[in-house]
Parts: sequence; C-alpha cells; structure tokens
Amino acid sequence: MMGRFCRYLDKVFAFGQKIGSLTDRRKLPRIATAAVWGSVFFLFVLRRGSLNAMESALRVSRRMERLIGQVRPSADRMGDVLGLMEPDQLREFLSRINHRLGRNKALRNDWPLRAAAIDGHEFFCSRHRFCPECSERKVKVKGKKVTEFYHRGVVFHLVGFPMAIPLDVELARPGEGEVTTAKRLLERAITRYGRFFDVVVGDALYMEAPFFTFCRKHKKDVIAVLKGKRALLYDAKGVFSLTKPKVWTEDRVRVRAWDQEGFTTAEGIGSPLRVLHTEEEVSIRERHRNRWVEKTERHHWWWATTLPVSRLSTRMLWRAAHRRWDIENDLFNTLVTHWSLDHCFKHEPTAILNFVLTLFIAFVLLQSFYRGNLKPEPRAHLSLIGLAMELYLGVVTMATCASWIPP
Ligand SMILES: [Zn+2]
Repeated sequence: MMGRFCRYLDKVFAFGQKIGSLTDRRKLPRIATAAVWGSVFFLFVLRRGSLNAMESALRVSRRMERLIGQVRPSADRMGDVLGLMEPDQLREFLSRINHRLGRNKALRNDWPLRAAAIDGHEFFCSRHRFCPECSERKVKVKGKKVTEFYHRGVVFHLVGFPMAIPLDVELARPGEGEVTTAKRLLERAITRYGRFFDVVVGDALYMEAPFFTFCRKHKKDVIAVLKGKRALLYDAKGVFSLTKPKVWTEDRVRVRAWDQEGFTTAEGIGSPLRVLHTEEEVSIRERHRNRWVEKTERHHWWWATTLPVSRLSTRMLWRAAHRRWDIENDLFNTLVTHWSLDHCFKHEPTAILNFVLTLFIAFVLLQSFYRGNLKPEPRAHLSLIGLAMELYLGVVTMATCASWIPP
C-alpha cells in the first residue's frame, strides 16, 4: 500500500519535484531539507504522534530509508529545521495540491457557489514555556493566579465536500483580535485562491462592519451568525413576527425558515443585508438502558448575509450556513483527536506554523488518496485512521524506494 501511495503522490501531485525544491536557512546542511521535512510529513501520514516516536521509527534499520533516504534526522533536528523553513513555500505547496484537486474534479457538489469557513483555534497552551510571540492570560489554579501562555490562529477551510480541505492558516500576534488575524489570512487567500471560493462563512465575531466592508471590497460575500443586542436583530424579529415561514424537512430536521432581504439597520454596513432565521426540530433516537427513546430538540438560528435570494435560495443558504460547523467537526476535531494538531512539537513561532501546514498537506493528500485511489469496496472496510495504519505496515514491505530518494 505504501508503494502505491508514493506513486500516487508523485504522479498526481509531482510530490518528488516539490519536496526536492524545499529549502531552509541552514548554511551547510548535512541532511537535506527534503529528508527532514519528509520525516515530519510521514510523521503525520503515519500518525506517529510525536517527534520522538518518529525518531524511533527512523532509527530502525531498513524501515524508513525507502521514504526518507539513508541520512535520517533526529527529533531535535526535525524541530529545529522546521523553524528555519519559510512557511510560504508550504502554503504554496498546499495551494497547488488544492488547485490540482479542483482541476481533477474532486471538489464538485450541487451548490451554486463555493463557501469557505473561517474560524479561530487555540493550538496549545503552557504555564512553563513561552516565546516572544506567545499570547498570555491569567488563570486561577488552586486559588492562585498563574500566567498561561498560548498560541491561537485562524484557519480557512472549504466546506460542503466529503473531504475536509484546509486552505490556509495564520497565527495571531500577541494580543491581536481574531478578526484582524483573519483579515491578514484572507488578503493572502484572495490572491492565492481568488476563484476558489465565493463566500466566507463565520461565527458572530465576524458580524461587524469592517469585516463585511473588507470582503465586499474584494468581491467576496459573507454569511455570519447574528446574535446579541443588535438593531438588525430587533428589526428582523419585528418583520418576521408578521410573516409566514417556509417549511421543509431534511435529514430528520424539520425547518421553519424566515428569510428577508433589504435590512439597512446594520451599523456601519453600507449595503442592505439579508437575514435568515430558522427554528429547527431535530428528532434524535437515543439508547436508554435497553430501549430506544425518541427525543426532539429545538434550535434557533440567526444569520445575516450579503448574498441576495437570486444567488442563493433559502434552503441553500441554510445549508451553507450550517456547514460552518464542518470546520469544528471535520477538521479541528479529527485533527486534534487523531492527528496531534494541538501537540507542541517545537515551541517556536515559525516551527508551530510549519508543523500545522505540514499536517494540512499530509491530511489533504491522505484523504485524496483514500477517496481518489481506493476502490469503494476496500474503502468500506477501512477508515482514514485504518489507512494510516495500513501505510505504516506497508513501509516494511515496500519493494522499491520512493521516486524522490536518490539512487
Ligand atoms: Zn510561544
């Protein structure tokens, strides 16, 4: 399986050529950047969990040579070199992979436009170690106030596809607000992924005039959660109390939706907004002791958007807005639980960013191989985690070296 995975990477994504072009700031490197970065890449693909665990795997003779080459890095060297690599080369690599997936028609659905979600995430925190780029806060531990250092960032992620596709990540500077970090990320994403997305989906933090203006200036639409004491919300409540909702049922959810354009009461936002409110009844079956119990949960949602009804119907807007949770469910939860997203591999700002970007590259390529190369029958009995396990077992039985290993 591992031989097949390597051939797939090289054939579809020119992996060998790309890994060979990676550089770092060392003057006279004894171990090539490709071997160091490749070790971190395979740490994620094979779910080794930590640099020390990867180093153990690298030290076993005739194990990783076919993927990394004869000269293999130590755990410390991997951490150090990742801190010396320019992150933009990894961002560009991730973008090339995502665009290739787009051209290979792996990113198709029945939506009239492409939505991407933006959300903040805390990568890790520590009470002992810190760096110049750490944010800090006071927390109470056993009645005493102590300082906690942490790193937060913003992740931009395509939604509405069976695969989780991260597009970019940006780390927050100390004391910086999430929306400011998000705008810095989006400036870059708009250049690199210009036609890749049409609308940015965000939570209630993004329901602010400067963010809406910023997106409209770049010809992107916005969907944001609407809550709190806002004139727009009161205004919409008033209008909706006099109108009849649209009703439909989808995936065990009964939806009553109020949807109206032309609200001009959002402070500072020049163009009129459309507001969608839904009341959702979700039927849930739960196991209580020895029997199944049917339960109904009721949820209320409010969103504001720049998208007119002519571009996105009520039902599609409801779907796109809800898929923002993809970023929580598919990407963050999966990567934190199974791919050590929140593990601190090396507490150094550039290294933190490069580890996250390498993980994103590994995760997209793994999913792409899983969906694009495995037949439905074997895939039915194999999870993505199972595939990582199969690949690890496959390292031992690889017949030839990966194409990027010099003879
Ligand atoms: Zn730090």
